[in-house]
This record gives sequence, C-alpha cells and structure tokens, in this order.
Amino acid sequence: MAPEIDIALTALHGVGAKTAQRLEARGITDMLGLLTLFPLRYQRTIFHPSGEQLRGDPPEHLVARGEVTSVRTPRRGTRQPLEVVVTCDSERVVLVWFHIPGGRFADAFRRGRWVEFAGALDTTRGLPRVVQPRTRWVDAPVEMTGEVRFEPVYPSVDGVPGKRLRAAIVEAFERVADSVVDVVPPDVTASLDLGTVRDALAALHVIEEQPSWETAWTRARERIVYEEFYTLQRALALEHVRARARSAAPRCDRRQVARAIVRGLPFALTDDQSRVLASLAEDLGRTVPMRRLLQGDVGSGKTVVALVAAAIAIESGTQVALLAPTEVLASQHLNSARALLAPHDIRVDLLVGSLNAATRNEVLARIAGGDAGLVIGTHALFSSDVEFDNLGLVVVDEQHKFGVEQRDTLLAKGVDPHLLAMTATPIPRSLAHAVFGDLELTVIRERPPGREPVRTYLRDRSSRPALYDWVARTVVGSGQQAFIVFPAIYDDARGFRALIDGAEELANGWLRGRRLGVLHGQMRPDEKLDAMARFAAGDLDVLCATTVVEVGVDVPNATVMVIESAEAFGLSQLHQLRGRVGRGTALSRCVLVRGDELSEAALQRLRVFEATDDGFELAELDLQLRGPGEFLGVRQAGAAEFRFADLVRDAALLAQARRDVRRQLFGDVAVDTDQPVSSPSIP
Ligand code: ADP
Ligand code: MG
Repeated sequence: MAPEIDIALTALHGVGAKTAQRLEARGITDMLGLLTLFPLRYQRTIFHPSGEQLRGDPPEHLVARGEVTSVRTPRRGTRQPLEVVVTCDSERVVLVWFHIPGGRFADAFRRGRWVEFAGALDTTRGLPRVVQPRTRWVDAPVEMTGEVRFEPVYPSVDGVPGKRLRAAIVEAFERVADSVVDVVPPDVTASLDLGTVRDALAALHVIEEQPSWETAWTRARERIVYEEFYTLQRALALEHVRARARSAAPRCDRRQVARAIVRGLPFALTDDQSRVLASLAEDLGRTVPMRRLLQGDVGSGKTVVALVAAAIAIESGTQVALLAPTEVLASQHLNSARALLAPHDIRVDLLVGSLNAATRNEVLARIAGGDAGLVIGTHALFSSDVEFDNLGLVVVDEQHKFGVEQRDTLLAKGVDPHLLAMTATPIPRSLAHAVFGDLELTVIRERPPGREPVRTYLRDRSSRPALYDWVARTVVGSGQQAFIVFPAIYDDARGFRALIDGAEELANGWLRGRRLGVLHGQMRPDEKLDAMARFAAGDLDVLCATTVVEVGVDVPNATVMVIESAEAFGLSQLHQLRGRVGRGTALSRCVLVRGDELSEAALQRLRVFEATDDGFELAELDLQLRGPGEFLGVRQAGAAEFRFADLVRDAALLAQARRDVRRQLFGDVAVDTDQPVSSPSIP
C-alpha cells in the first residue's frame, strides 16, 4: 500500500484526537476505513436556487440565502415554534425551529437581514418549509447558481457531526484516493466491467448529477468487495503454491498394514471412503506436503479413513498426531485406534489435559523417542514440551473447532508434515473457499449401507409425557439407548429447559427406574469420560447432556435423540446432534421438543430441519440465517470477517474472485478436487 495512504486520521482538518477516537470506536481507523464508509443514500441538493427552481422541482435539500421578511416569535411558556419567513429570489420559504436556543436567537431575526440557511426542504404543505435549518448571517444575496448535487448521506457516527464527517471524507478522498493501489489486475477488472478502486470511491463520495445512484452505489460496492475477495484468494493461492513447492515432506508409501486393516474391518468401505483413501495414499506418497480438508456428513465414517491413512504414515516410519476437540472424543478415538492398530504393533498414546504428571511425562518421552506411533490428543498437544521424533502426518478432527494458528502450531512440530483436516459440519462451499482456500477439498457424500435416515419429529411441550413414556417403555424397554440434550446446564434468563433440573425431573418421574447419566462441560474430565464410557458400554439407558455430545460421539446402540428447547440451537448444531443417532442398523429417531412461544421464523426453521436430512442444504440455510460463525467456530469466524464483504450476499463474487485468481496465477481454471479420480482401492 502506498505510504500516502497511511496518514493518520488526525491529519485531517477538523479531526482531533476526540473525533479520531469516536471514529475508531466505529471501526474507522485509517484513511481507507473512512473512504469505505458507504453512504446510506444520496440527497439531491440545490445550491442557491432561483425561485423558479423551488417552485418547479423542489430538491430534498437546499443551501440558499434569503432576506427575512417576517418573524413569528413564540409566546413565552408555549410550545409554539419560531417561524421566520425569508424571501429567496421571488419565493418565500419558512424557517421553523421547535426548540429555540434561547430568546436572543429569535431576537436576531429582524426584517431586512440576510441569512444563509441549509436543511431539508418540506414542500408538503403551504409554503416550502425548512425545519431546524443550519444558518449563518450574511451581508447580501449571492448569485443564483442553481447548482444541483447529489450529496452522500453517511451513517451517523456517535459524537461526530454529519457535516464534519462529510468534510473529512471529502478531504481524505482528495488526499489519498490517487494513491490507492489495486491488487486486481486491470485486465481482470476490465473483463468484469469494473473500474479501479479509485473510481469506485469516487462514485461513492463524489456524486455529480446522478439520478441512478443506487446502481452506481451497488457497482462501487461490488468493486470494493471484489478487491477484498481477490486479495484474500490471491494470498491463499500463493500460500498453496508455496506449500506445493516445498518438497521436504516424508514420503509415506508403505501400505501393507493399511491393506491388512481394511481387509480386517467388520464392514466393507463405501465407495466414497475407498476413493478418499486412495487419494490420501497417493498424497502421502509424495514429498509435497498434503493439505487436505475432508468433509463428510455426520456418520459418514471419516474416522476409519483417517486411521488407515495414519497406518500408512506410521508404517513408513513417521509418527502421526490426531487432534480432537474434547477428551470424550479423544478417548473414543483411542479405543477405535487401538482396536485397529494395536494388532499391527503400532503403539497408540493419549495426551490430554487430565493426565497426571507421571503419566504425562511417560507419554512425552515416548513421543519424543519415537515409540509412540499414533498420538491422540486434545489441546494438550499444542504444549511446547510436546516434541515429536518424526512427525509425518497431522490429523485434525472436527477441524472447525480449532483455529488456523492452532493447526499450524501442530504442523510446526514436524518438518513439513502432511495434513488431513476433517469436519463433520458440512461447510458451505462458498465459506470453505473463503477460509480454507489453501486446503484441497474432499467430500464423502455416501453413508455406510443399511443406514436408514433418522426420522425427525417436531413436538411441543405438551407431548412430553407421551414422549418420555415411549422412551422409557419402548426404547429402553427394547434394550436401546437414548440421548436427551438440553441447551443449558442450569436455569438461566433465556428460559430454556436446563439439564440439571430436567434430568432430576426425569429421574424422579417418567424415567424412574431407568439408568440415567448426566454429561456436561463443567464436570471433571474423568467424570465426563466415565459417563461417556458407561453410556457407550450400555451401562446407562439414557444420557442427559448438553452439546458436549455434539461432536463425534459414536454409540451405535443409541437410537433416540431428544432435543429439549430445540429452538435454542442452530440448524447445523441440530444436524450434528441428530448425527449422534442412526449410526447402527436399527431405525433411529430424533425428536425436537420446542418451547411454546416461538417466532414464526424460529418455527419455520425447525420445520425445515424436520423435513431435511441433507447436511449441506442445512448448512447453506444456516449460513444465510446465522452468518459464518456457526461453521467456523469463534476463532475462524474472525478470519472470515471481511471488512466490506458479506459472505452470504456476495457469494457469487467470491466464486468469481477465486476463478479469476486461479486463471491469473495458473493460466487455467483448476477444478476443485471434490471427487478424487484415483482408483477405488489403496494403490
Ligand atoms: P464420522 O464421519 O461422523 O466421524 P464415524 O467415523 O464416527 O463417523 O463413523 C460412524 C460409524 O460408522 C462408526 O461406528 C463406524 O465404525 C461406522 N462405519 C464407518 N464406515 C463404515 C462402513 N463402510 N460400513 C459400515 N459402518 C461403517
Ligand atoms: Mg467423527
């Protein structure tokens, strides 16, 4: 960025430290911020109109001079306005003040004095009126220029008068607009029929005669949003190229163990799983570090794919780190991993926050010494004393729960290790491109065979007795298990049903005599694991929980998911929760219990959920309804916070920017590796 553009806000006339502070409070910290304050609209303003102009086609706003011809002063103690009639050219205009700033102000209006006034013109009754105009005394009339301009009306900034804000923007434009450097090359903008950013800024702030400002405004905004998208996409693409250019990654091409594991599975991999595995194997066999994002709807069987990939890396002499967002999930992965890998003499270790010091030290030693083949862990893996002997592959499960820098921290523990990021939250494609442009996408669409879709029912609170009676008799009675999820642990102001009260009520009522467990985020880690383990082992019939069970948890014998106060959850979250059941062959059901006082929109959302099983469809809807935060987790939502762009509204522009960047950098439009093309078996 050119240095001229770096001048401080306070370098502008009329912008002192106070005003600068107020602008900053509004997120305007520099010249570019000021110039990209988009006007809300434009008002047609006439400067020094002739009487003719005022009668014919009156402007919204005017600046004019007139001679005071009569004054009506309000009587003391009344609420009458001060009304001053001035004559401009040949036309009379009434200036009106409802709250006059003291008697002296009114007294100053004497017949024959000249006043300049500015304000909005009201021509809806009698004489044209200007209410609460800004005024100053002048000596004489001026020439009737009758100039018409469309003046931008900016959003108000607390504590900064509109006039000062406008003046600052005009000055900022004059001083820096010519130094704004475009990132988008001119041939690209030309092909899109978009001008330079400078032109766009001019269109926003310096409007001459412009009857169709909406079009101009929209085009200008598009240009600026496009610049923003293009800049990000370009950075992501270059990073991608840089990552590709490195070739220090370990070549992992031993596949004996992987093949044996796949042969030994109690089920056949789905075609999608096999294809994904084939492309992972291919990637791992190269010395270019793999950067892959595996998206697969809940229950699509990503874990086994990741573990087979891990086996390839480990057999090839490297170590693998598998990162999970919760201890519950980490220990579940530990069980699956040990079952698959231990028979092949692969040591699997767990590194979580709740380990005692002695155990932790032993694990650290095995990691550093290279004895631990697969290390499964939570945030505990980021700690600087976790040092690998030879980290070859990093797997990040439920990757949207982590920030990009956390991912990078882990990658930095090896020399260009391969990366497999996985997510069960289907990320809308537009978002995935925006934020994960540096990762190649792979999607598992198919679910394991024999799985009937989960049936979903929306019920109100009055059906709870029948519902829980059914859970107790039919579900638990036939040896199956149920989750009951609550949006809050304790009662709070939001009025949703709370876990602690709800579980107690159930234990003493409808579910009396059934084995009930409780699981929530404020329990000690060992209590959480214990509750989860007992539920997984079938020692509990019902698990009452918060969204701790949202990610990853896999208990095939659980066939019912009841969600209390379902309106409290986003669509994607509901979909995650629903994905906790339907993981075995028995028919599963998800029952949403809604509150009684719902907005029409909230009800509609739940109905959509009831009717749709497609995670991607729900994700797109959720993106429109709730914005990107839901998908990316808090941290990555930050990364996706564009200055001007709106990921939902501007999705098409984003896709365009991505195509254009690729064409510019690679000379063609590379197709996303959505469907791997390799042969459907481990090569
Ligand atoms: P997710 O993709 O949501 O992480 P999991 O990896 O937890 O899903 O898999 C869900 C369940 O499906 C597990 O119990 C797993 O053993 C089982 N599974 C995975 N692949 C298959 C398959 N091809 N056939 C049958 N069951 C499978
Ligand atoms: Mg999973």
